[in-house]
Amino acid sequence: MNIILLGTGVAIPQLEKAQSGILVKTPEELLLFDCGAGILGRIVQSGYDYCKIHKVFFTHHHLDHNSDFLALLKAQQLTALDSDAQVETMNVYGPAGTQHHVAQLLELYDYLTVNVDVTELDDGDSIRVGNGVASVRATKHSVSSIAYRMQTPTSTLVYSGDTEPAESVRDLCHGDVDVLIHECSFPDAYASVSNHTTPAKLRDLIYDQHIDRIVLTHLYPHASGHEDAMVDVVKERFPGRVDVAYDLMKIFL
Ligand SMILES: [Zn+2]
Repeated sequence: MNIILLGTGVAIPQLEKAQSGILVKTPEELLLFDCGAGILGRIVQSGYDYCKIHKVFFTHHHLDHNSDFLALLKAQQLTALDSDAQVETMNVYGPAGTQHHVAQLLELYDYLTVNVDVTELDDGDSIRVGNGVASVRATKHSVSSIAYRMQTPTSTLVYSGDTEPAESVRDLCHGDVDVLIHECSFPDAYASVSNHTTPAKLRDLIYDQHIDRIVLTHLYPHASGHEDAMVDVVKERFPGRVDVAYDLMKIFL
């Protein structure tokens, strides 16, 4: 699979960071994980076609993870109208509450005509996605929130979404994982913060897992200028590769 970190920021605007979003290209299709503000534009910048995204996986429904979703639907609707094409159904996956959340949004914007099909995923659920499997576990955040393990026949990605260090995410990293994209919102100077992860906490959670590469994302402005130090902290115990994400970073597996 090919992974593009579309947005690596948070709800506080930062010049070079859109909010949360990861595009995953499998041999069969384009998958979008989260869709915060700025992600629609980043999809265009990435060179992929936003009209070919028919599966969106939400970790949770904070605005920095979902606020461009309606913009994506509208873009697909208008582009299809322009070319006389039929818009395909948008399949949405997310934690408990996603059905209600999306239904309310679509009710507010009733000029959106794209058909949306919602599947709610609970802790421990697995679903087939193309030739792969997406598995989810609940995470520790201020709202209902899940992490994903996306496994294809050739590669495995785990994406934490927003969370405090969680055994459930560690469990998702069972066996061999090619890439763990884990939130690392703040440097350790902010270790008392709740709902999020810092480098030392992440290091102590996953240091002995069989993960080739860890990518730190969901970066608050507080992390700016501390990126190298954050990597070094994780590497104190974790022997694999560690990088701080940046927008449009590509990972080819
Ligand atoms: Zn959040």
